[in-house]
Amino acid sequence: MRPMLRDDLQAMTGYHSPQLDVAVRLNTNESPVPPPQEFRDEVAEAVRNVDWNRYPDRGASELRSKLAARYDLEPSQVFAANGSNEIIQSVLLAYGGPGRSAAVFEPTYAMHSQIARSTSTDVVVGERSHDFALDMAEVRRVIETHQPAVVFLCSPNNPTGIVDPPETVGEVLGMVEGYGGLLFVDEAYGQFSAVSATTLLGEDRSLVVSRTFSKTWSMAAARLGYLLGPSWLIESLELVVLPYHLDAVTQIAGSVALDYADAMDARVAMLVEERGRLVDAMSELPLEVWPSGANFILFRPTDVEGAALWQQLVDQSVLVRNCASWDRLDGCLRVTVGTPVEGDQFLEALRSALT
Ligand SMILES: *Cc1c(COP(=O)(O)O)cnc(C)c1O
Repeated sequence: MRPMLRDDLQAMTGYHSPQLDVAVRLNTNESPVPPPQEFRDEVAEAVRNVDWNRYPDRGASELRSKLAARYDLEPSQVFAANGSNEIIQSVLLAYGGPGRSAAVFEPTYAMHSQIARSTSTDVVVGERSHDFALDMAEVRRVIETHQPAVVFLCSPNNPTGIVDPPETVGEVLGMVEGYGGLLFVDEAYGQFSAVSATTLLGEDRSLVVSRTFSKTWSMAAARLGYLLGPSWLIESLELVVLPYHLDAVTQIAGSVALDYADAMDARVAMLVEERGRLVDAMSELPLEVWPSGANFILFRPTDVEGAALWQQLVDQSVLVRNCASWDRLDGCLRVTVGTPVEGDQFLEALRSALT
């Protein structure tokens, strides 16, 4: 007899985006450009000197100190893990779990509810308003009805690009603190936006903010994310992470990357400018285009089917994310902001498909 999968996992499907062989890949929100060559050389040199027979620094102290300095926090207020997905999982293992719930406001990043389910945390779903902004009456309803152990926000939100202003996040935080819940703000795209929930952080606040090296740091290959929050909460995550979960190579890559913050800022500035250019050009076409604080743009053709447009782009070797069949995103596509050359290829394919 084969072993039986956990009952609550049987109906679940995995999360993946299709990897097609095309010339222009604008579907997974990665950075279009790699980090600088000096960064690669420095990481390679440091990796040569790793004590391979020893376990890595369990507390990732150098990396956490550098991250803390960047945000004017203490190292004890920073947690680092294998991508923000391990961060989400750790928080849910420690604060979610059987008999507890996590709230999400759809449409949003699918991994929040996916990881909630895999940690046996109930998922309660609230709806965003028609323009994809948070609807505060709905937020209050969900929070008062369920008192979720963890409330997820995502700002800029994936896949819409919508930013929650700090006043809104502060209001949600007030509601969540009222009954002893935890507010988790996923800022995977935080550096692309002018505002951040990090301004609300404090030792006496039930707020954590996650960020990742996958997008802005051009380091999706490394799997490194981090969480900023009160030290009592960060410390509690040690109870659920596996021993030495963050290997020496990943710690080195993150720590060296932080010495190249200027290069990161320049890449982000380039992409923000390119985002503006794409939004302007797309607004001239028969498309509904949502404002974005991230490195991607959500749009919907007004005269043709989203799925048909997606296929026409693929036929021209341009791959964007097909959200057309996703709940609440009927007919929508999402394009990652790439280099200006990729942007031109995308716009050309779009124009030829739509006119
Ligand atoms: C891409 C993304 C992440 C990144 O996860 P990693 O595990 O750090 O690669 C997290 N949150 C959101 C909303 C994302 O879009």
